[in-house]
Amino acid sequence: MTSRLYRDRGIVLRTYKSGEADRVVVFLTENNGKVRSIAKGVRKTRSKFGGRLEPLSLLDVQFHRGRDLDIVNQVETVDSTHNVFGDLDSMTEAIAVLEAVDQLVPDREPVPHMFRMLVGARRTLLTRPSPLVVPAFLWKLLASEGVHPVLDRCSVCDEVPEAGAEFGTFDVRHGGVTCSACRAGIPVSRAALDLMREVLGGGLGDALDRAFHPEGQTLDDPVINEVSGLATKAFEHHVERRLRSVSIFERHDPGS
Ligand SMILES: [Zn+2]
Repeated sequence: MTSRLYRDRGIVLRTYKSGEADRVVVFLTENNGKVRSIAKGVRKTRSKFGGRLEPLSLLDVQFHRGRDLDIVNQVETVDSTHNVFGDLDSMTEAIAVLEAVDQLVPDREPVPHMFRMLVGARRTLLTRPSPLVVPAFLWKLLASEGVHPVLDRCSVCDEVPEAGAEFGTFDVRHGGVTCSACRAGIPVSRAALDLMREVLGGGLGDALDRAFHPEGQTLDDPVINEVSGLATKAFEHHVERRLRSVSIFERHDPGS
């Protein structure tokens, strides 16, 4: 008989109350994908690990496999860097990152590359938070899903801009910039396209360094706002399309 116990590292995506004293905890784990679990009794008395089960916590967890929800047996803190949840801006950003992962990852499908990306984003949120963290993470996430934005030619007709020029519109339905003849999408600046190229082309660390201001966050950078707006739209479009394709697939499932 196989053991129903297993260990994995995981980041808490979200938690919610259950019953009198329990808490449901959704993790993204390194090897078991997204795991829904229940931590029993953690809201009653002084639980030995209740306080560690906060969103964004990186933990080493022992689970007991259950029918619906797994049971959290033991919890050890892997990285005790203090959570950002005192800082309102960082909190909003952390929740946006965690929600994106939660929306994208199906239950129990191992996605170790996404776990690594989330560990990286977590570290950035804790050490050099900025308004660039969420959009950069969303673009990286989309690229890892095979949805890399088309930036060097028209995403509708494949036309290439003249040397030194850029197309000035971006259409999330087509996943990239569009030429003046195709006239689709919303305006995008050259600076925003450059920043997206940098984030997606190996310059992420430098871009995050520049966006980070130790004295406090700057929330009104127009270029970052532009990249952020596009990232949110592209991500929503992708999630919606995936949900739709899943529901079509389920409708045609001959077993049902
Ligand atoms: Zn075109």
